[in-house]
Amino acid sequence: MQYLKLKTKSWKLKEESKEMVIICRICEKKFMEAVFKEHSAECYELNNWKNELQKKNAEVTKLCELAFEKKQELSVNAVIEKYCFSSVKLLFISQFINKDER
Ligand SMILES: [Zn+2]
Repeated sequence: MQYLKLKTKSWKLKEESKEMVIICRICEKKFMEAVFKEHSAECYELNNWKNELQKKNAEVTKLCELAFEKKQELSVNAVIEKYCFSSVKLLFISQFINKDER
């Protein structure tokens, strides 16, 4: 008789616990009601961190792209500068040559 009472009690507990399963709206995992409150707060915080991390990643990616563009611009400028200087030098030299020829 005692055994049956215990058995019934455990069935009732099982039934009750089945009813108290909650699905988290953030991560969509199932939790028992007792655990859910704690999970909910942690999941919310974790989700905020994830969003923050995504934002920071996007910022870093954007900055990397900007840095790459700047680098390209600088090397193009360096080439132009080098080319201009050598053209100026050539002009300078050619003027001297022309003077000698006159
Ligand atoms: Zn969750």
